Amino acid sequence: MSACPRKFILTIAVIAIFSGVARSQETPLKSISYRLAMSRPTSHLFEVSIAVELSDQLKDKPLQLQMPKWSPGRYAVFDFAKNVQELRANGRVTRVDDQTWSVDPAGANVVEVSYKVFANDLSGTFSQLDERHANYNGASIFMYVVGHKADPVKLTIQPPQGWRIVNGRMDHPGQTAWAFPNWDVMVDTPTEIAPDWTQETFEVDGKKYHVVVHSFGAEGGKRPALVKDIERVVRAEVAMWGPPEFSEYTFLIHYAADDRSGDGMEHLTSTQIIEPGALGEPGVYEGTLGTVSHEFFHVWNVKRLRPEELGPWDFTRPLHTRGLWVAEGFTNYYGHLMLRRAGIWPDKKFLDTEAQTISRIEGAPGSRLMSAEESSMSAPFLDDAAHAQLTNLHNTAISYYPKGELIGMVMDLLVRGRTKGRASLDEVMRRMYEDFYLKSSNSSYYLRGRGYQTEDLERMVSQVSGTDFSDFFKRYVRNVEVLPYDEAFSYVGLRLVKTEAKEPYDAGLSIEFEDRVAVIENVRNGSPAEEAGLQAGDEIVLLAGREVAKAWLKTLARYKSGDSIPITVKRDRRTIKTNLVLKEPERFEYRIEEDTRATSEQKSLRNAWLKGTRS
Ligand SMILES: [Zn+2]
Ligand SMILES: [Zn+2]
Repeated sequence: MSACPRKFILTIAVIAIFSGVARSQETPLKSISYRLAMSRPTSHLFEVSIAVELSDQLKDKPLQLQMPKWSPGRYAVFDFAKNVQELRANGRVTRVDDQTWSVDPAGANVVEVSYKVFANDLSGTFSQLDERHANYNGASIFMYVVGHKADPVKLTIQPPQGWRIVNGRMDHPGQTAWAFPNWDVMVDTPTEIAPDWTQETFEVDGKKYHVVVHSFGAEGGKRPALVKDIERVVRAEVAMWGPPEFSEYTFLIHYAADDRSGDGMEHLTSTQIIEPGALGEPGVYEGTLGTVSHEFFHVWNVKRLRPEELGPWDFTRPLHTRGLWVAEGFTNYYGHLMLRRAGIWPDKKFLDTEAQTISRIEGAPGSRLMSAEESSMSAPFLDDAAHAQLTNLHNTAISYYPKGELIGMVMDLLVRGRTKGRASLDEVMRRMYEDFYLKSSNSSYYLRGRGYQTEDLERMVSQVSGTDFSDFFKRYVRNVEVLPYDEAFSYVGLRLVKTEAKEPYDAGLSIEFEDRVAVIENVRNGSPAEEAGLQAGDEIVLLAGREVAKAWLKTLARYKSGDSIPITVKRDRRTIKTNLVLKEPERFEYRIEEDTRATSEQKSLRNAWLKGTRS
C-alpha cells in the first residue's frame, strides 16, 4: 500500500521510559558497529552482529539492546523481536522483556552481540532473504542500543558472492560500508542486495534520481517508459514544493510477480515500492506510477514536514498522533492530483478517482462514527494490523487515507475559491514546510526542524486564506459531518451528483467468494442482514431460492423496499433459514460533473487547480 507514517506524542509515560536511560545517554559509547551477513540465503536468516565499544564509565553496567515493536511508516505493532533467534554475546545475557536483551560486559572493553533474524516477507515494512535477493527494512532486523539511539553507527554488509548492494545512500558503486549519524537514519535506508537488479538515472534541476528495479516477472519492455513517467511525476512534485534538500534519491522498485506482496514505504532519500504483479502485466505499470506519486510526495509531507510525534520515535509502545489524515490523507490527495499535473492522467481520470473516494467514504458507516483525528489515533488498529479477536471495525472505523484525501481536496478548493485563486493548499503546505522544517531550529538529534500539531495547520490555512478555518476543523476534522462538497466544487465550476446505484440494495452484506462459495465478510449495523440474524463467516447457500454466485446484487435488485427475501446460510454445522426485509436503498454512486453554467472565472480556477499553476 502506499502506506507510511510514524509518530508519537511525547507523553509523560514516554518521558518516564527514557528517563531511565538518560544517565547513560550522557556518557556516549565509543562506537557502535553493525555487521550484516547472509551466508545461507535459503534459510531466510539474516546474521546480525553488533560490536559496542564501551567508555570506561560504562564497563561495569549492563548494556541493553532492543528490537523495535514497529517501524516508521507503518503504525501497527508487529513485534519484530518474534523473529530473533540464537542471540549470543561475550557477556552474560538476560532477557529483560519481549523486546529487550541485557548483556553484562563484566569489565570488557567491547560488548559483542550476534543474533539471527528470520525474514521472508517482500515488503517495505518487513524484510526478505531468499535465493533471489536480500531486501530489508532496517527496523525489522537491527536492534538499537537502549539509550544510544542518537549515537553514530557504522554498518558493514557482507553480500553473497556476485550479489550487489544498492540503497538510497550510495557514495560509490560496490560500496559495502556506511557510517550513519544515528540508528534512525540507518533504518531509514532500506537496502537491496541481489545479482540482477537494474538501475537507470535521470536528473531534475541538478538532483540525481535513480530507478532501481528488481523484477521477478516479465517486464514487457516497459521499463524505459516507466523511468520517463517517473521523471514526469518528480518534475510535477518539485514544481509544487521547490527543490528537495537531498542531492540524490533512489526509487527501489520490486515486481514480486506473486499476486500477494504489495507495499510502498517512504524514506528520507529513497522509497521502497513493491508491486504484486509483473511490470509487463496489465495495470501494473499504472499501479507503480500511483505508488511513485504518493511516496515521492512524502519526501516533503511526512519525511520532513511531519506531525510532532513522527520522529524520533519510541519503539516500545504504539504511535499516537492526530495528524495522519494530513500525513497520509493529503499525500493520497496530491498523489492523485500530481498524476494529472504530470500529464499522465486526463482531468476525467482524476475527477473520477476523487468521486470514487467520495462514494467509498460516504457509503461507509464508520464515516459517521469516527472523525479524521480519531482515525489517526486508531492507526495501530487500522494500518494492516493483525487481529486475532473479531472486531466491529468495519462498522466503526474509517481510514485516514481516503478521509484525509477528501479533507485535503475540499480544503484546497475552499482556499482557492475564497481567495479567488490567490492562494491554495499548495501554498499552505509550502509555508508549513518552510516554517516547520527549513526555518525552524532542530527539536531533536534526528532531523532538521520540528514537528507540527494539527492546530498549527489550522492556523496556517486560516492565515494563508485570510478566512477562519476553525469551524471547518471542528466540524469535518474533529467531528464527523459530511464535507461541504457543494461549496468546494462550485468554486471550480463542477458539481457532485449522487445517484442511486443500478443495483441499489446490498441488505448490509459484504460478501467474499472462497472457491466460488459466497461467504459473508461483514454485516452492517442496523441493516436488514443484521436484523435477519446473519453474521460474518456465514456461507450463503440460497438467496431467493437460488444459488447466488456473484449475482447476489442483481438478485436483490429485483426487489423493492419492504419486500422479504428468503435466505439460507450454513454456520458451522447448522443450516439457518431466515428472511431479509429490505429497507431504503443502500447503494449510491457519486460523479463529479462539469457545471454547464460554469463561468470563465470558475474555469480558470479549475485550470489552475488541475495544472498546478502558481498564482
Ligand atoms: Zn503514504
Ligand atoms: Zn530484490
